[in-house]
Amino acid sequence: MTREDEIQKRLSARTPGRWVKAYPMRWCELDHFPHGKGKCDYQIHSWRLATREVCSVDGQHIIFGNDNGLHVSEADSQLIAHAPQDLEYLLSENARLRDELAEANNAIDDPSAYWSRISSERIKCGGQ
Ligand SMILES: [Zn+2]
Repeated sequence: MTREDEIQKRLSARTPGRWVKAYPMRWCELDHFPHGKGKCDYQIHSWRLATREVCSVDGQHIIFGNDNGLHVSEADSQLIAHAPQDLEYLLSENARLRDELAEANNAIDDPSAYWSRISSERIKCGGQ
């Protein structure tokens, strides 16, 4: 399994949707009273910034706290725990591929300059 496969596996297993560092404020859409008797239609009306809470944009909690502490699913914690190393890896791969693309574009734009540079680099390295 490649590094990209591992990253994709963690992404696929996470709570889906875009994540936001906030929690939703919900109100019942129905014109009835009292609310909260099982017939309500709670919809997201606004978002409040949260210091330690993350939700998906459809209102699912990713990281949340209650009386029993701070909670996050196993799959989401795997993604979060690997995020710094995965992002560093993907950024370095992105930079490497950009360099390769720039070199390929240079070779297309000016093939003779490209081949003379490659040849001189091979001579410096002791290659043939
Ligand atoms: Zn209601």
